[in-house]
Amino acid sequence: MNASRQPATLLEVQGLCRRFGAGRPAVDDVSFHLEEGELLALLGPSGCGKTTTLRMIAGLERVDAGSVRLRGTPITDWRPERRGIGLVFQDYALFPHLTVAENVAFGLHRWPRQRGAARTGEMLELVGLNALARRYPHELSGGQQQRVALARTLAPGPDLVLLDEPFSNLDAAMRVEMRQEVRQLLHRAGAAAILVTHDQEEAMVMADRLALMEHGRLVQTGSPDEIYRQPASAFVACFLGRSNLLRGDAHGSAVDTPLGCLPLASPAHGPTTIALRPEQIRLVADPQAPALVEVREFRGHDQLLRVRLDDTTLLVICPNRHCLREGERVRLEVTEKVVPLPC
Ligand code: ATP
Repeated sequence: MNASRQPATLLEVQGLCRRFGAGRPAVDDVSFHLEEGELLALLGPSGCGKTTTLRMIAGLERVDAGSVRLRGTPITDWRPERRGIGLVFQDYALFPHLTVAENVAFGLHRWPRQRGAARTGEMLELVGLNALARRYPHELSGGQQQRVALARTLAPGPDLVLLDEPFSNLDAAMRVEMRQEVRQLLHRAGAAAILVTHDQEEAMVMADRLALMEHGRLVQTGSPDEIYRQPASAFVACFLGRSNLLRGDAHGSAVDTPLGCLPLASPAHGPTTIALRPEQIRLVADPQAPALVEVREFRGHDQLLRVRLDDTTLLVICPNRHCLREGERVRLEVTEKVVPLPC
């Protein structure tokens, strides 16, 4: 790709709505866009409408209101096959009676034979499964099955791939390995992707941009960094990473809180809620201090502490070299400016 070229919009989702029966809509006025080659993670708690949104984009779910455009063309009413969008499901949906190579070739049945065979070889090479081409799905590990599913999806050359919880059947170590691998494979194939996940770490590691949903609505989009540093609400601050929410009284560039007067990352006035990340607090052992370490969880690379200060409980994450014990008195120091949340 020409580095100086502006990224072009691939997908535009505008005002998408879906209601199942009475009550709150499952998806409520959701709008976002996706650029060519971009990886967007749709993130949120269980039942917030992620899969329904994905299924409407794929054409597998009726759209009650709103539109889906692919490269500017309205495709809202198109059949799923006509959209040319690749899908990877939780269970990979491989055909058990077909070999790895036959699974990958499945979507290429309309291609001339030789081109189809060459493309299948290319895809097997891409996912590193050439040597296993004649095996059947039950003869593969979970990670290998997932690579086959991805190769099959990428074979016809879709510009957009939708992945719905693609790692949920893998163990923790394999999930970590596959998320980097899938990211690189999509990148090499030049495909844009929407990843649905409820795993915030997975979303932050993989995605160029996050779109956070709550109760059917999109509540914030932005890069993982932006959203982590500038959460738009208490929900976002607590869903993406952990946060201590504190009430305070803001006066411009500072806020009075139970931890004292703290500098604000952006100006605010009056009663304010602030989000303080556990790693933004430093603890110093001090027998005269009012705060008390109630719980200490050793986590290998760091430690997580639950600290009580009067009627406020705070989560603190700090390096293991500070050896703190349960029952120890500590002084709390805030190391960065704190973020005021919109009311
Ligand atoms: P999860 O992370 O648990 O998969 P999700 O964010 O993907 O959840 P959806 O599967 O989109 O959420 O569901 C959103 C809401 O719509 C839920 O309350 C769900 O029960 C409801 N829902 C989804 N599909 C249907 C359906 N076919 N009929 C009725 N209700 C449905």
